[in-house]
Amino acid sequence: MPDFSIGLRCKVCGKLYPKSPINFCTDDFGPLEVDYDYSAITQNITRDKIEKRPRNMWRYRELLPLEGEPTVGPQVGGTPLVKADRLADALGVERLWIKNDAVNFPTLSFKDRVVSVALSKAREFGFRTVGCASTGNLANSVAANGAAAGLETYIFVPSDLERSKILGTSVFGANVIAVSGTYDEVNRLCTQVAFKYGWGFVNINLRPFYAEGSKSFGFEIAEDLGWRFPQHIVCPMAGGALIGKIHKAFEELHKVGLVKNAPTTKMFGAQASGCNPITDAVKTGRERHKPVRKPNTICKSLAIGDPADGFFAAKLMRDTGGYGEDVSDPEIIEAIQLLARTEGIFAETAGGVTVAVAKKLIEQGRIPRNEEIVLCITGNGLKTLDALQDAIEFPVVIKPSLEAFDAITGASPSPVAREPALV
Ligand SMILES: *Cc1c(COP(=O)(O)O)cnc(C)c1O
Ligand SMILES: [Zn+2]
Repeated sequence: MPDFSIGLRCKVCGKLYPKSPINFCTDDFGPLEVDYDYSAITQNITRDKIEKRPRNMWRYRELLPLEGEPTVGPQVGGTPLVKADRLADALGVERLWIKNDAVNFPTLSFKDRVVSVALSKAREFGFRTVGCASTGNLANSVAANGAAAGLETYIFVPSDLERSKILGTSVFGANVIAVSGTYDEVNRLCTQVAFKYGWGFVNINLRPFYAEGSKSFGFEIAEDLGWRFPQHIVCPMAGGALIGKIHKAFEELHKVGLVKNAPTTKMFGAQASGCNPITDAVKTGRERHKPVRKPNTICKSLAIGDPADGFFAAKLMRDTGGYGEDVSDPEIIEAIQLLARTEGIFAETAGGVTVAVAKKLIEQGRIPRNEEIVLCITGNGLKTLDALQDAIEFPVVIKPSLEAFDAITGASPSPVAREPALV
């Protein structure tokens, strides 16, 4: 398999850099993005070829930036696109889908996609020690995938992170560094560490490769819809990379001839009101976001006050005719339960943000009720149980007797139970 990536291109001035562990342009500090030889890919890729491969993210490997076979996370991706009819009824819309990365392998969030690319690339570059700054899910994924690959890992997190996300990182033998500060302060520290120690940080010097992994989320949506694009996508935003890469994925599928029509999908970004720099920029018509100094929300996985791709995410929402909205903590909790009760899907707080924002956008009339919508569920509810602590009642305890059960149940026996078939 040839490597179709040609280098890293500055998103501001277009200057091309060689494939290396760098993430910004030395001329203008613009972020770098992987560029490909698309005409060569067009010659090499067909729907048929892709469909014959195993159902994981690497079936789109021509559009991912590796030189060799993936050595980290070869089974990541291939998560279900669920037709969500019961949630559609509850929201009063006709065609609704859920892309469910709450069941991504191995750490139950979409971050396994970005980490498998970043760490496979880190190994190609020869790094033995890797790390990240994380709001939780990235920590879990770098620790797990790093352990499986035999890499030494250093994971930096804000010290007020959910306990389950810290435990779910330490268990893999990672060096976990809890920092008393916000994510943005943690990230700044990691930039210094990466520079001083020469390690590979997946979301810093490996970020251009890392971010490409998110495209697979978009490739899978389009393929599972029958090689076409939905009219609306609602996507949670932290650093603002995923939303942009889903759209880049759609554009690439069109560019290499796998989907005939260019995407006209409207991109909607979702954040928590307690940390909403990107949606605030969209709503107030500001081109550049104002950093949120002290994020304050139960949705810690999205709590990045100064998002690296905030400018591009806001621009994308404007350019595609989408919008950005944010929701309060009580709305997040209610939406987690709505999704669980209608679809049997337990999402983390970021999923609550997505569902609650979708509800809001539908009520505002920004998403028409008769058009097709895909909601991006990116993380698993079992990792953020604390958020539901006060919202869910603990079950009543009864004695182990039928009388005790009769006393509390409002149900009456069903006819089937009363007339058992005698054999
Ligand atoms: C990291 C994360 C996101 C957002 O990712 P960005 O690409 O940084 O915008 C969304 N959902 C969950 C659960 C995450 O962990
Ligand atoms: Zn530049």
